[in-house]
Parts: sequence; C-alpha cells; structure tokens
Amino acid sequence: MLDAAKMIEKLTNQTVNYDSVLRKVIKDWQNNNQRPKILLHSCCAPCSTYTLEFLTDFADVTIYFANSNIYPRSEYLRRAKVQQEFISQFNYQTGKNVGYIEADYQPNEFIKMVQAQGLQNEPEKGKRCTACFQMRLDLVADEALTRGFDYFGSALTISPQKNAQLINQIGLDVQKIYQVNYLPSDFKKNGGYQRSIEMCRTYDIYRQCYCGCVFAAKQQEIDLKVINQEAKKFNENRMIIE
Ligand code: SF4
Ligand code: SF4
Repeated sequence: MLDAAKMIEKLTNQTVNYDSVLRKVIKDWQNNNQRPKILLHSCCAPCSTYTLEFLTDFADVTIYFANSNIYPRSEYLRRAKVQQEFISQFNYQTGKNVGYIEADYQPNEFIKMVQAQGLQNEPEKGKRCTACFQMRLDLVADEALTRGFDYFGSALTISPQKNAQLINQIGLDVQKIYQVNYLPSDFKKNGGYQRSIEMCRTYDIYRQCYCGCVFAAKQQEIDLKVINQEAKKFNENRMIIE
C-alpha cells in the first residue's frame, strides 16, 4: 500500500493540502485495484459521519474508540454508545460494513499524562491537546499494527475546531515508530464539514458541548453535574451499566 509520507516529504516549506494527498493515495489504490483496511480514530459520532460516507467507497473502515480523555465516565459511555448506534444505522441505511472496536477506558492514564507534563492549565488548542492527539494516535497505530490493518487515521480532521495540520504531522511521526502507514486527511475540505452537519441532522446525532476532558470543560465553565445527570439518564434508557 502507498506510504503517503514519501509523497509529503517532497512538499517541503509549504502548508500541506492533506485532502489532496488523501485523494492521490486513493487514486493509487484504484489504479492498483486495492481496497485497504483502515483503523480510524473517532471520539464521538459527529466527526465520523461524512468521514465514513466518503472513505467507505474506497476502503474497509473500522472505527477505533480510544478516548480516555473523556470525563466523566457517564459521558464517555454515552459518546461510545452514540458512536456505535450511528455505525449500526449507517450500515443499515447504506449496506456498508463499518466495524467498531473500543479501547479500555483508562481516565487515570490521561490525567497522569497531563499532570506529568504540567498541562492542566493549557488553553484548548494548546500543548495539552497536542499531547492528547499524540496519546490517542499512538493507541490507534498500535492497535492497527496488532490487528493487521493497512492504515491508521483520524476522523478529527473534519472538525474546524481541530488543527488538521498538527494532527497529520503527529500521525506521520507516529507512523515512524509503529511501522504502519498513517492515512493523511483533511475531511472538512470539499464540503465535508457541511455534509457532516447535514448527516448529524439526518441521523439525529447527539452533539456534545465540550471537547471531552475535565480541564477544557472547567475552562469553558461547563456544568459537569448537569452533563453527568443527562448522560446517566441516557445510559439508563439504553440499559448501559456504569
Ligand atoms: S472532535 Fe469533537 S465532534 Fe469530533 S469526534 Fe471528537 S468530540 Fe466529537
Ligand atoms: S480539549 Fe479535547 S483535545 Fe484538548 S486535551 Fe481536552 S479532550 Fe484532548
């Protein structure tokens, strides 16, 4: 399978258009009659909507839900359930066969990582987020390697709130350690973000009001007691044991 890093190496001293890189990679699969297996990180359903609609035309995709950053636990369980429900509905509506794998939820590991690096008070989009992307992309690459996927990648590049250049740079760095190809992307381009909003409406998908971690939630003055109550109610309705 084509290693996009080699293509990107040639693009020195310029902002990389990762959407165009992805499309060249896909062209290469088509030219070689390949249909790769991709393990794609997502942290809740919204970013996975259009991303799956687009990618599943060319590849077999499995979502990897590895998000120990999410706080509280009840909210983690709600987002994981919403992600699974979206995949089921998407498969049913489209006849596709997207898979779902969930990593262990280890919130203490995330908190320890943030504290060890003194990143508690970093603003959103700052160094804590860089470390958070790194931690989760490491997990995806490791899982992709273990399970024999051709590529690992991230659905988060669809979000205008996330730095796609940074996510792609981290993914390409992680690729060097794990010896599994990273799939570059910028899914928000070509109307991707707009389509994700439409799909969220069509599938009636829950959209969270904070990124996930306790640090950002406090900075945003999110009432975590209310979040906890609402998430618990959702989980009870779905008979999810906390
Ligand atoms: S970046 Fe935000 S909207 Fe996108 S999957 Fe993660 S939590 Fe959801
Ligand atoms: S704000 Fe989001 S990306 Fe940043 S550290 Fe918190 S959970 Fe991770």
